[in-house]
Amino acid sequence: MKFDLHVHTNWSDSRSSVQQVLEAASRKALDGLAITDHNTVGGAQEALRSAQRLFVIPGEEVETRQGEILALGVEEPLPPGLEAREAVDGIHGQGGLAVAPHPTVPLLNTLPISLLRSLPLDAVEVFSSITPLAWRYARRNMRLAEDLGLPMVAGSDSHHHGTVGDAYTLIDVDAQGLDAVLGAIKAGKTKIGCASSKWTYKLHMLLGFLEPSAAPRRARNAFFRLYGRPTW
Ligand SMILES: [Zn+2]
Repeated sequence: MKFDLHVHTNWSDSRSSVQQVLEAASRKALDGLAITDHNTVGGAQEALRSAQRLFVIPGEEVETRQGEILALGVEEPLPPGLEAREAVDGIHGQGGLAVAPHPTVPLLNTLPISLLRSLPLDAVEVFSSITPLAWRYARRNMRLAEDLGLPMVAGSDSHHHGTVGDAYTLIDVDAQGLDAVLGAIKAGKTKIGCASSKWTYKLHMLLGFLEPSAAPRRARNAFFRLYGRPTW
């Protein structure tokens, strides 16, 4: 089955509604997709209610104290600000998978590599279509996934419905249902298909990244990564 495993909606910072995202996924001939909004499962729940033909994996991109983790297969929200280890345990407690998104890409809110080695993660997102120089980082991410002995997945990290399905993961599933799909990913029955998103969408993302309203959050996260979070 063909899935885009990393898609945002306007429940977080995408410009596109759940409906636009689902329509785009159908046009791209995906079998399913994971809705992974930042710190909310609202988009995933709406997609579960409204998707008819598509297989929706409910999810969230959780902002932990150490960086972002992609949670696949969770319907209960995980709050931001948890320790990374707590978030992974919370994801596993719901029967979900914890995936390291775009782990070697600088400037994004990624987990430190040293922490990736000690967390019980289930997969590595090796290709992210919206990343600048996507292929360069894909090679690094693949080496990391091999080094960690973890399955490889790909997603568009779409923040606009025009990029849904640019990257996808082919999952070899021999049974029906969410547990079977998640189990196949965890077992490494995955192949990735990748295309970099058009530069206009990347520019769009970059402008959002540089938006004055986003700057304080970015600066705060960068500071915390360098010097640690205060404990008060
Ligand atoms: Zn994302």
